[in-house]
Amino acid sequence: MTLIHVSWTNYTQTKLPVLFCPTCKCKRRMLARFQDWYGWSSTCLSCGDGWEGGEMRERPARPRWRQESIAHAKAAWLTYKTEKARGRDLNAGCYKLGGTVAPAPWILEA
Ligand SMILES: [Zn+2]
Repeated sequence: MTLIHVSWTNYTQTKLPVLFCPTCKCKRRMLARFQDWYGWSSTCLSCGDGWEGGEMRERPARPRWRQESIAHAKAAWLTYKTEKARGRDLNAGCYKLGGTVAPAPWILEA
């Protein structure tokens, strides 16, 4: 069964800490993001496994999902850093774009 998680709650914190990965069994760089009501979600940038609120995210039954998960996490981090460098705080959820309020990019993804 495929579980689709649809959430309009914005991330309020985005970090790239080094945390212990139970799958890799050592400390790894992870994308960690916090959502109100849902808590922290993290993705290991080495193995692609993810955790939501302390529980391991379901692994997709398709080939190359680890590479896709790692690429998605890296892209999310690069988007966050790029927009932050431009003066836009993606953690604020919405930001001014040409005078109008646009949704944060990750809402348009997936
Ligand atoms: Zn890992």
